[in-house]
Amino acid sequence: MSDCIFCKIAAGEMPSNKVLETENVLVFHDIAPAAKVHVLVIPKKHIASLNDITEEDASLMGEVLLAAKQAAETLGIADSGYRVINNIGSDGGQVVHHIHFHVLGGEKLGALVG
Ligand code: C5P
Repeated sequence: MSDCIFCKIAAGEMPSNKVLETENVLVFHDIAPAAKVHVLVIPKKHIASLNDITEEDASLMGEVLLAAKQAAETLGIADSGYRVINNIGSDGGQVVHHIHFHVLGGEKLGALVG
């Protein structure tokens, strides 16, 4: 999508601080970190939100989760633990309408649920 900021980052048309990149997935540091470590995992394909994935995206979404795990390992937070968050739509607090998973860690996080 031409006016999607994360599509531009995925295409290299806008800069980002990359953690890892594969053919289909990009992980980069969030510009406004909400924890000591805060990165975003996105598929390069434009999908607006979790509401918009289809069975065709099943393998791609698996790649996204694998990249989240690999980024956590690369950033040294895998063993101490971290949180993966996906905001969906207005009530979910989604601001950027290109599906992304926040990976937060590097410190003790407050409980959201449980
Ligand atoms: O889940 P939500 O849509 O609210 O999160 C969007 C995230 O994208 C925010 O954490 C924001 O800081 C980040 N962002 C970014 N780089 C941009 C625009 C937004 O890291 N250029």
